[in-house]
Amino acid sequence: MFALGHTGITLGAAGAAVGLESATASSAGQATVNGSSMVALVIGANLPDLIDKPIGVFAPDFGLGTGRGIAHTLLFNLGILATGVYMSDRGLPWLMYMALASLGHLVLDEMWRLPRVLLWPLYGFSFPRVGRRGLVAQILAWWRALRTEPGVYVFELAGALLMVLFYIWRYSGGIG
Ligand SMILES: [Zn+2]
Repeated sequence: MFALGHTGITLGAAGAAVGLESATASSAGQATVNGSSMVALVIGANLPDLIDKPIGVFAPDFGLGTGRGIAHTLLFNLGILATGVYMSDRGLPWLMYMALASLGHLVLDEMWRLPRVLLWPLYGFSFPRVGRRGLVAQILAWWRALRTEPGVYVFELAGALLMVLFYIWRYSGGIG
């Protein structure tokens, strides 16, 4: 999945969660996601790719040429979540939102299919590596999939639609 799918589906899920909480809270309308939390959600939804993809592009020989490395591991994301919960208890919830969105990224990437990365370092300290030629082939495969595979572009289009709906909902007073 690419950025539109990750961002839109995460914002859609956050909007649904806030809407559900508002609907079930004793005093309706209390649940809010402010602007900085929304930015944290957008960054978190793409955080693993923002970290691992540049490493994969600029240093494929480093061993992260698949574009899925340290930031796609459970260890990294649970570490952020633990820090986020600690900060949230002190009135700064944005890192927790970012961590939850980043964990959602792992689900949308179906990382259980890559247990060697997801459960790093249980299977050893090295990540699956592709050489420079493998990386170029992978980028071309991503581009081809984006244009030709309904299972890929449908999620990107759905993500774009959800982003539009989320922003309409937010700026029509859905959340504070
Ligand atoms: Zn990813």
